Amino acid sequence: MDFRFDPGIETFRAEVRAFLADALAGADRHADSLDLTGLAESYERDLHRRAGARGWLDLDGVRKAVFDFEAARCDAPLIDTAMTLAGHAVATYGSPAQRGDLLPRMATGEVEMCIAYTEDAAGSDLSAIAALASRDGDGWVLSGHKVLVTGAHKADWCCTVARTRFDVPARQGMTMFLIDMRTPGVEIVRRPTMNGWTLDDVGFNDVYLGPEAVLGEPGAGWAQLTAAAAAERSSMFWLGNARHVLDLLVALVRTGTRDGTPLADDPIARDTVARFAVALADAERLARRALWSDITGQDDPALPAMAKVTATELLQDLAQAATELAGPAGLIWSPLFTSDRPMHGAGDGRLAWEYLERVHGTISVGANELQRDTIAQRGLGLPRGR
Ligand SMILES: Cc1cc2nc3c(=O)[nH]c(=O)nc-3n(C[C@H](O)[C@H](O)[C@H](O)COP(=O)(O)OP(=O)(O)OC[C@H]3O[C@@H](n4cnc5c(N)ncnc54)[C@H](O)[C@@H]3O)c2cc1C
Repeated sequence: MDFRFDPGIETFRAEVRAFLADALAGADRHADSLDLTGLAESYERDLHRRAGARGWLDLDGVRKAVFDFEAARCDAPLIDTAMTLAGHAVATYGSPAQRGDLLPRMATGEVEMCIAYTEDAAGSDLSAIAALASRDGDGWVLSGHKVLVTGAHKADWCCTVARTRFDVPARQGMTMFLIDMRTPGVEIVRRPTMNGWTLDDVGFNDVYLGPEAVLGEPGAGWAQLTAAAAAERSSMFWLGNARHVLDLLVALVRTGTRDGTPLADDPIARDTVARFAVALADAERLARRALWSDITGQDDPALPAMAKVTATELLQDLAQAATELAGPAGLIWSPLFTSDRPMHGAGDGRLAWEYLERVHGTISVGANELQRDTIAQRGLGLPRGR
């Protein structure tokens, strides 16, 4: 048995690392703390085009997982790319015109996308959506209000879902649409998150859509959404974040002091970093197993759910333990990128940022409670929860 990726993959990893180290040198000059990535849109688009030119926005399987891990590990704004968010849906359900127009440009980083599914009363259960698209001649008129959308303010296109029929059960009456964000009636409001960046509300105010805006089959939106959500991403990028935070924690223990004693001599600090090194190794092994199951077509639905829960909760625990070990310096916050870091912040203010941020992964891409439901039902064979 060999737990390593093959040498070709490790060569690819080294290439990605070298590219990212070069691309991110001096990124602090392009800071934008209101964006999740911490970086200005122009810088991000340029980086997407450079990665796209290498074919790195259109990867799958192990290469995609390795790319995501390395990008997350160094805070590169290459996680929520158009291909990651909507590539599967467009490639699988898009008409020849949609595929021909959008996919090549998504893959080269020329087109940015957002996915706007969530509504105030429809998050975990998207069958409760109220957005409505009514027939208007050949086309549709869409009205509705989407919330918690990542990156709508910088997206060129949006993939969304609305009810198109109310005379059938919700899951048979939903339709997906692809919408040019410049279409009249699309309105974006940026809302602050607790960590200083923004998620977007997207209002569709009587937006007229031609028949070509439908993605897939009218009425098939629920089944399409479920498949698109399952394909959205592996848990590898959270592990890239976790690796970064563990590195910061080890650096803190190596050089920090508490009450005049080096943290490196403190048995609790040593125990903590060792415990997280074990947990990260475990999480990586589980994520690789989920990846292997996916690329070999084993189709074990519990494995990606287990990997997602493990990675996101490890990351949250790690951020919490790091701020605790750092003491008061762990309370001093800084945005991800800035040329004006606060003095005395642990990890240059990064640990406090992590503490506020890491609740995020346990909610987005399918809340962990829902993932545990999947594990109970589809992994352990328990009956569906009521
Ligand atoms: C950082 C971030 C980025 C996001 N980006 C996007 C995006 O780009 N596009 C988009 O459409 N949405 C996005 N979302 C929204 C995200 O998909 C929803 O937050 C998520 O689906 C949960 O929905 P909710 O917030 O309405 O919570 P709810 O569904 O109301 O859940 C509230 C709580 O109840 C629990 N719960 C709900 N149902 C069950 C159940 N059946 N069993 C057990 N517990 C349950 C949940 O786990 C959660 O703890 C993002 C969210 C975050 C935090």
